[in-house]
Amino acid sequence: MANELRSKILIVEDDPGIYKFLKHTLATEDYSVILCTTGKEAIEMISSHCPDCILLDLGLPDMDGNEIIRSVRAWTSTPIIVISARTMELDKANALDLGADDYLTKPFGKIELLARIRAAIRHTRTTSRDEGIALNGVFEVGDLKIDYHKHRVYLAGEDTNLTPNEFRIVALLGKHAGQVITYRAMLRELWGPSANRDNKILRVHMASIRRKIEPNPNEPIYIFTEIGVGYRMRSADE
Ligand code: CA
Repeated sequence: MANELRSKILIVEDDPGIYKFLKHTLATEDYSVILCTTGKEAIEMISSHCPDCILLDLGLPDMDGNEIIRSVRAWTSTPIIVISARTMELDKANALDLGADDYLTKPFGKIELLARIRAAIRHTRTTSRDEGIALNGVFEVGDLKIDYHKHRVYLAGEDTNLTPNEFRIVALLGKHAGQVITYRAMLRELWGPSANRDNKILRVHMASIRRKIEPNPNEPIYIFTEIGVGYRMRSADE
């Protein structure tokens, strides 16, 4: 691959054991790799180098990685994969809520790392294509079709008769297909910032949605539950 076409990955990590592993793994896969070890440098390098993907450690010597997510999300949509030893679901949901795209918990293997990076970079491309689909007003995956103009969802050509709230949930997930949307983000998006933080309303709606759109509601193939975190719509190329 020509140099200028190689995807550029920024590693933000202060642990030499981990950044050496990351650097080595990515270099052998022909990625162009840049590295920094502090949050301050990270913010500078993200704006000056425009990386295609950022691998971000949350525990940095000068700031919390979540602050970096909050700060860079104000001006860039570059995919961010958080790399952290924190295993709590709440930490994971927080980072995703602030705008991280994915989350890897240490320790992780080479294969998983590379797969997540490919997915994150592909997702940036998919998102732009999906915006194109959204312009035509239609999102399709498998036999499922969301018509944003008619506010209808079809399964194999048949209207699934979603209620208005069910449609809003499916429509939101369809716009971000392939990406986990946290419960909190969904509640805020659908019912406003003062929405009740109880996920029960989402679970009730989702059970009904699944009865209408999933061939087998117990084994969903269109909308997946990320336990303790949120929901994810299958992306068009999955
Ligand atoms: Ca660290």
